[in-house]
Amino acid sequence: MPSVISRSTAKAAGLQYYFTGKVCKRGHVAERFVSNTSCIECHRVHHAVWYKRNSEKVRAKSAARHRANPEKRRAIDAARKRRNPDLFAAKAGRDAARRRAPDCVPSDFNVRDTIPFYREARHLARTTGIPHEVDHIIALILGGKHEASNLRVISRAENLRKAADEREELVRSRSSTQGGNVP
Ligand SMILES: [Zn+2]
Repeated sequence: MPSVISRSTAKAAGLQYYFTGKVCKRGHVAERFVSNTSCIECHRVHHAVWYKRNSEKVRAKSAARHRANPEKRRAIDAARKRRNPDLFAAKAGRDAARRRAPDCVPSDFNVRDTIPFYREARHLARTTGIPHEVDHIIALILGGKHEASNLRVISRAENLRKAADEREELVRSRSSTQGGNVP
């Protein structure tokens, strides 16, 4: 729970959020935007609904912008990555997961919940010199979800071994549902 800070104090300090500790009209105890006093949870839920309805359009628009001006996109991405590498990695992880399994990201997904995993992977890689990756405990190809409860950090070598095992398991489960290998 964040500590209580009034809107005026937060505003004077140049912060984006303040916190009253009181419930919003939809029952969240969450920070509010200094700019417009709306609850960040309400905003997140509203945005998730909106995004679900418009995601195709948003993605198409962003891809078109990317094609129109790749240099600019790269510069913006690089700046974002510098500013908040863990958030950047978490978003990249979510997008990569979505490409592998379009339905693996839950509708109430909040990328911030997954940042600690990407931070830990980067930290371990830096401190041990061994590349580490964020792994799905239940693999996406086996129906696992891209969400905090299904994430963990393992070394890249371990991840590659696991991926090979999962492919084998997938092949086995397919052949058994087709009745191919049943004695
Ligand atoms: Zn709310």
